[in-house]
Amino acid sequence: MKIRFCGILYIILLFLLGCAKPSNYVCNTKVLPRIASHVILIGLDGFNFDDYGYIRNYHNINYLTIHGASTFNKRSVIPSSSAINWASTMMGVPPEMHGYTEWGSKTPDVPSVEINNNGIFPTIFSLCRDQIPLEETGCMFEWPGIKYLVDTLTISFVKQLNSEIDSIESNVDIICKYLHQKKPFFFFCQIDGIDHMGHTNGWYSEEYYSYLARVDHCIGMIVQSLKNVGILDDTVIIIVSDHGGHNNSHGSINLLDMESPLIICGKGIKNGYAIQEPVVQYDIAPTVAYILGLKPYPYWRGKVISDIFQK
Ligand SMILES: [Zn+2]
Repeated sequence: MKIRFCGILYIILLFLLGCAKPSNYVCNTKVLPRIASHVILIGLDGFNFDDYGYIRNYHNINYLTIHGASTFNKRSVIPSSSAINWASTMMGVPPEMHGYTEWGSKTPDVPSVEINNNGIFPTIFSLCRDQIPLEETGCMFEWPGIKYLVDTLTISFVKQLNSEIDSIESNVDIICKYLHQKKPFFFFCQIDGIDHMGHTNGWYSEEYYSYLARVDHCIGMIVQSLKNVGILDDTVIIIVSDHGGHNNSHGSINLLDMESPLIICGKGIKNGYAIQEPVVQYDIAPTVAYILGLKPYPYWRGKVISDIFQK
C-alpha cells in the first residue's frame, strides 16, 4: 500500500514537472499593459548638434521632436565611445556591470556581472525572447561591432548592412522592406555614417550637417513605411545616439561628446515635451521594455523615463 501511494506521488510529481514552463519563459504580457505594440529604435552613431537651433533644418527629426518628448542632454556613459554606449543602450546597465570598456570591445573586458545561456549580458532583445518569444524582433546595423552587443541568438532577424557611407539610402530601403513584411514588435537599426563624417571632416562641419540631411531623409522613409503598413499609430519611434563628438573625435568628458539628443515620439508619448529628468544611456532599455509591457530584468540599473508618457 505504502509503495503504491509513493508511486502515485511520483506520477503526480512527474506530471507537475512536465507542465512547468522553462524558467526563461515568463509570458507576462497579460500582467503589464503595453503603451504601444511596436518600438522602432533608430541608433544614429555620433549624432549631435553644437547648436540645437539647427534642428529646424532637418524636417523629419524636427517633426518627431515637435510631436514627441525629447532632451538634448542625454548622457553617455564614460568613456563616450561606441561599443561601451551601445552595450549600455541594449543592456540597461553601466559599463561597470556589462564590462565592455573600449570603443570596439567585442567581448567584455571586465567579466559581466550576469550572463545568460548565450554567454552574454542579457539585452532588450533577450528580454523580448524570454517574455514574448513568438513576437518578431529585428536588428540591422552598419557598424559590425553591434553584433557583439545585442545577443543575436535571441533576435528573429539580424542583418549586417553595407558599411559604406554612400549606402545609407539603399540600406534604409532594406530596412523599410523588412518593416513592411514583418511589422516587428521591436526593431533596432544602427546608422554609422554621421560618426564617419565627424571623424573625417569634423563634428558640426558643413559635411557633417550635409550628411545629417541624408539621414533625416532616411528617417522620413522609415516613418513613411510604418505609415504605409498601417502600424504607425501603434508605434513608438526612438532616436538615440551613442555619443556626440568635437573636432574630429569623441570619447572625452567634453559635454559635446557626453551629451546628445534623445527623441521619443509616438503612441502614448507627450507632444512637444522637453524631458525634465536626467537621462542616461542605460535608461533606454528599461524604457523600451515599459512601452512594450515587458518586465525588466531585476539586475538592470536604468530607469524608465517616466515623464514622457501621457496621463
Ligand atoms: Zn559611436
